[in-house]
Amino acid sequence: MTSITPVTTIPVMKPWLGEEEASAAAAAVQSGWVAQGPRVAQFETEFAASVGASHAVAVSSCTSALHLGLVVAGIGPGDEVVVPSLSFIATTNAVRYVGATPVFADIDTATANLTSDTIGRVLTDRTRAVIVVHQGGMPADIRSIRELLAGRDILLFEDAACAAGSAAWDQPVGQGSDLAAWSFHPRKLLTTGEGGMLTTEREDWAVALRRLREHGMDMSAAARHAAGSRVVLESYLEVGYNYRMTDIQAAVGLVQLGKLPAMVDRRRAVVAAYRERLAGVEGLVPVTEPDWARSNYQSFWVLLDDAWPHSRNETLQLLADRGVQARRGIMAAHLEPAYREFADLELPATVALSARSLILPVFHSITDDEIDRVVTALIEART
Ligand SMILES: *Cc1c(COP(=O)(O)O)cnc(C)c1O
Repeated sequence: MTSITPVTTIPVMKPWLGEEEASAAAAAVQSGWVAQGPRVAQFETEFAASVGASHAVAVSSCTSALHLGLVVAGIGPGDEVVVPSLSFIATTNAVRYVGATPVFADIDTATANLTSDTIGRVLTDRTRAVIVVHQGGMPADIRSIRELLAGRDILLFEDAACAAGSAAWDQPVGQGSDLAAWSFHPRKLLTTGEGGMLTTEREDWAVALRRLREHGMDMSAAARHAAGSRVVLESYLEVGYNYRMTDIQAAVGLVQLGKLPAMVDRRRAVVAAYRERLAGVEGLVPVTEPDWARSNYQSFWVLLDDAWPHSRNETLQLLADRGVQARRGIMAAHLEPAYREFADLELPATVALSARSLILPVFHSITDDEIDRVVTALIEART
């Protein structure tokens, strides 16, 4: 009898979920209150504290957070919103949802982020907002971007989908932000299955966001419930949305939030190991972490430069053949059919990075042996 050694595939990402999340979700179910309720409120309070934000408003996803953020800021038809093309497509789609015009800016190849320079090149009299993505969890240089926008009537909206737990200048990403959007999709660190959050310093926006996520109602379902036997009638002040998070999700989120610092530490250790072991491999250029930044490494990507002998897609296949599930690097929205009218834009760094980068497996439970296998697979692919 021949025996075949099963080679398990190393996934690019695996959420760190366990018994604690399962029993927190079960407790929410058993409480009878499964829609937005007390656990969502508590998750908002604790998330705001972890970011150092004055207000946090939970929603159904980061995509809905980006949409509601643009709605609350009054951005609409005729307005231009600067976005990176190099991002998950939801960043750009949100601009379209409100009827505004996306204006694509290029990125810095070292970090995959917008910079004050690339943004400065595309500002016009019609620019009303800039959505800055902390790509893959790597903090963007918000300080210099704030300086660029100072004194202009332009909203700086942070797409922090990937960045829960990242820090810049020793402060959490998102601290002091007028508006930041967060994702709790399983491809990020902290997950609630699906889910998102908006954080803001502006109380008027927090109030409006709470209303907009719940059909524009002047009173939340939780508040009506709290009124007990007193009859209260809600009214609908504007056209809103159903973008609520459930209490089951928030219960999971509360447990995950407690684990976030450990998740970040582990991911940083994994990336440090990759950096050390890949330093001598010609043709691989890993993402740069500026000295003021502390990434959560939601994604650890490497650029394949001219010294690398294969195309990116061939490289992905060579890794897959060795049981390593890497992923193509971050996409470029302007090259997708949905945005075909922008296909000829000159965005050289965006095009280079989206064509020649790949994301390596990083997750909480990855073992030293698995890190070894990824490194070996890359070295074998090189030869
Ligand atoms: C994942 C992601 C989103 C979308 O998040 P969802 O919660 O899945 O809607 C938006 N922007 C960026 C940069 C992302 O990485």
